[in-house]
Amino acid sequence: MDFVTGLRCRECGRTYPAEALHVCDFCFGPLEVDYDYEAIAAHITPESIAAGPRTIWRYADLLPVNERAPVDLGAGFTPLVRADRLAAELGLGELWIKDDTANPTGSFKDRVVSVALTKARQLGFKVAACASTGNLANAVAAHAARAGMSSIVFIPYDLETAKIVTTAVYGGQLVAVQGNYDDVNRLCAELTSERPTWAFVNVNIRTYYAEGSKTLAFEIAEQLGWDAPDHVVVPVASGSQLTKVKKGFQELVRVGLLPEGSQVRISGAQATGCSPVATAFAEGSDHVRPVKPSTIAKSLAIGNPADGWYALKAVRESGGSFAAVTDDEVIEGIRLLARTEGIFAETAGGVTIASLVKLVSEGVVRPDERVVALVTGHGLKTIEALVGHVGPTATILPTLEAFDEAVQLQP
Ligand SMILES: *Cc1c(COP(=O)(O)O)cnc(C)c1O
Ligand SMILES: [Zn+2]
Repeated sequence: MDFVTGLRCRECGRTYPAEALHVCDFCFGPLEVDYDYEAIAAHITPESIAAGPRTIWRYADLLPVNERAPVDLGAGFTPLVRADRLAAELGLGELWIKDDTANPTGSFKDRVVSVALTKARQLGFKVAACASTGNLANAVAAHAARAGMSSIVFIPYDLETAKIVTTAVYGGQLVAVQGNYDDVNRLCAELTSERPTWAFVNVNIRTYYAEGSKTLAFEIAEQLGWDAPDHVVVPVASGSQLTKVKKGFQELVRVGLLPEGSQVRISGAQATGCSPVATAFAEGSDHVRPVKPSTIAKSLAIGNPADGWYALKAVRESGGSFAAVTDDEVIEGIRLLARTEGIFAETAGGVTIASLVKLVSEGVVRPDERVVALVTGHGLKTIEALVGHVGPTATILPTLEAFDEAVQLQP
């Protein structure tokens, strides 16, 4: 059983049944899943959670669908790694990396897709679809295969090779669109009304999909021994993840799993080549102006972010900030994390780490805070970004002389 009471419009508050709805008929505001928090509070305990699977489904009571057999490849419960070496380089006291590279298809998108397709299957959909910047494509194709659903995935034609191969291998349909993500998304919005029997996870099923991101907050709190961090740095594409990480911490307070008054500051990370939300924050504006993306952080390259305004509001309310970093800083961020902690992140992770560096230098992220940085995707997906930046320290003939001549490393 689940504790869902229905869907509620984030703008006008009108309520709807928990069906495949995503916008309010009345004001076109986005819908959000609503729960009976009192019933959850009476039911959920750290022990009941600990008795669950080592996946996002241990938090099923706080998810929009609660099934014995979800669409599941094992997403979630990824390592929360104490990052003392990186903390020392940055002058921080307590720093943790939430390592979502460890998810089944190598990114945080497995969380949202596992939830979305479980709900889609429950609603009777047989076809899984999405508009993707890459990682969502991987996750939808893989989870659809697991669920025995057909999949049709739409991507911008110029995605990284690894993301194309690791989507196509699952055998669904993969459509490369000659345009950027915003063009792909527009096409999928049109297709959603033309093909009402397809579950577009981030369009008509988006309300449920988005809830999957809350599990990041749930896991961080549980892995800290049911305690809240002071500050979380979150990469921003559509802004959904950031908004739901905030909601996740608030829900834990509401159901009694975090102390009353727990406050988590949330800061957003973007690449300067696509930073509409960071720009609005810097300008003190309420209006997120769409941009034309141009950055190596392709998984974050959404020029017209659906939840941009909500992410902006969430960051302001939490007392956090935004940073935007250049592509060179992104590469530095990837290398810094790899060198200090042995974690290889994709370009989005480079955006998070480089933004953390910037926020520390601005005094926004402080040495007295317990800080968590979300590393949301695996570096093997975006190898192209590092070609020409890292490689062998020497290429030699197979002789001792050649080695001694080329490499000066003390024994
Ligand atoms: C999609 C994605 C994000 C951001 O997700 P939004 O919810 O759209 O803001 C962050 N990191 C990676 C690796 C992603 O693929
Ligand atoms: Zn409304």
